[in-house]
Amino acid sequence: MDQKLIKQLEKQLEKTKKQLTKDLKSFAKKDPKIKGDWDTKFARVDIHRSDKNERADEVERYENLLPVEHTLELRLQDVEKALEKIKKGDYGKCGKCGKDIEIKRLEALPEAKLCMKCAS
Ligand SMILES: [Zn+2]
Repeated sequence: MDQKLIKQLEKQLEKTKKQLTKDLKSFAKKDPKIKGDWDTKFARVDIHRSDKNERADEVERYENLLPVEHTLELRLQDVEKALEKIKKGDYGKCGKCGKDIEIKRLEALPEAKLCMKCAS
């Protein structure tokens, strides 16, 4: 694979990694026990002072954020895996059939793990 292209994709991946980490940090905190796992923060609501509606809002916010957190977390894991592969020199190979992933696909999704055929 073209080294120049790999460098370019690596830059893109680093940028995505920074953005994802920033997004996750805004509402979740890293689980220190599990690598790559994030927990959505549950803002503490003062049960004595807050009324029922306020508490319901907080629960709703939490429930809405959980799937977002999960998506961002998985994407971040893929990005980190792709960066590791670049370092090891086996980037761009399909995890299923072992063939080279299409360059067009990598340009659109640098963290892609599968080629177009296997992903569809
Ligand atoms: Zn494949």
